[in-house]
Amino acid sequence: MNILVTGGAGYIGSHAVAALKEKGYGVVVVDNLVKGHADAVKGTKLYVGDIGNGELMDKIFSENKIDGVMHFSAFSLVGESMEKPYEYYNNNVCQSMNLFYSMVKHDVKNIVFSSTAATFGEPDEIPISETTPQNPINTYGETKLAMEKMLKWFGVAYGINSICLRYFNVAGAHPSGDIGEDHRPETHLIPIVLQVAAGKREKLSVFGGDYPTKDGTCVRDYIHVSDLAQAHILAMEYMIKNNCSDSFNLGSGGGYSNLEILNAAREVTGKPIPASINERRPGDPPVLIASSEKAERVLGWKREYGIKEIIATAWKWHSTHPQGYRD
Ligand code: UDP
Repeated sequence: MNILVTGGAGYIGSHAVAALKEKGYGVVVVDNLVKGHADAVKGTKLYVGDIGNGELMDKIFSENKIDGVMHFSAFSLVGESMEKPYEYYNNNVCQSMNLFYSMVKHDVKNIVFSSTAATFGEPDEIPISETTPQNPINTYGETKLAMEKMLKWFGVAYGINSICLRYFNVAGAHPSGDIGEDHRPETHLIPIVLQVAAGKREKLSVFGGDYPTKDGTCVRDYIHVSDLAQAHILAMEYMIKNNCSDSFNLGSGGGYSNLEILNAAREVTGKPIPASINERRPGDPPVLIASSEKAERVLGWKREYGIKEIIATAWKWHSTHPQGYRD
């Protein structure tokens, strides 16, 4: 079976590519390399270009017999999305719409879509379940919700099956240490904490210490990128076997505060990691925790990595690749 991975040169996409290959799938990647890194696909067949480019997609779907698409390519920074709604709608919604239409043209019926916790906005209930109302509070979340809805209507009209996976905080790296997170600029907590540990930043600025949480800092639900990749494979297999569409939240059912992450990273790395508590970052909900009960029950998904392993695998990658893929 052959899977086309869009954004396969990015952080999560490259881990999906590795996991698919480890399970014996044929894999083809399309990535415009605006944010991704060619080295991250590790020799997998790579088409460089935009998913919205109909001619390129015709070529890919004609040259390869594709059974399903895993769709990761997107802009994904909340802050940036608030300043650049045109770019976010264009890159995420318009490009995806053309990808979905290329699938229709070439009779490719199955897609696992990388959605996000940001579609839930500031939820009324914790843990967040699949029935929690989706009310995004930023452009990024809106674009992902628009794509979820578009897939639904493409299903009704054209018979496309889709599984939408809403992730929470993804972190960690492949246990080999050969692929990992390399965002420029980096904005996420765990890689920033580890950059401080590696001496690349002076200290961590913790955004806000007066939230209504156990220690005053925000609480997030962390999931290892390889566990996430496995969820994509299980979702693809489930969708193809049952000829159906669905959506799942992927979290751990528990959360860690920013200070708990800092302390766990100090323990894992053995480094002091200086930090100070500063102003809140606008748009940060105090607590985001997902129930993954449905993914466990329906897909048989089981997480392998806890928070220490998440940080340890990320540390292995960052400490051996201080310049990311430039090393
Ligand atoms: N955070 C922080 N300092 C940083 C980066 C992030 O305190 O330099 C906090 C952020 O405010 C949030 C948590 O870490 O409470 C997780 O943020 P991240 O950007 O990693 O993921 P998000 O939850 O926004 O998707």
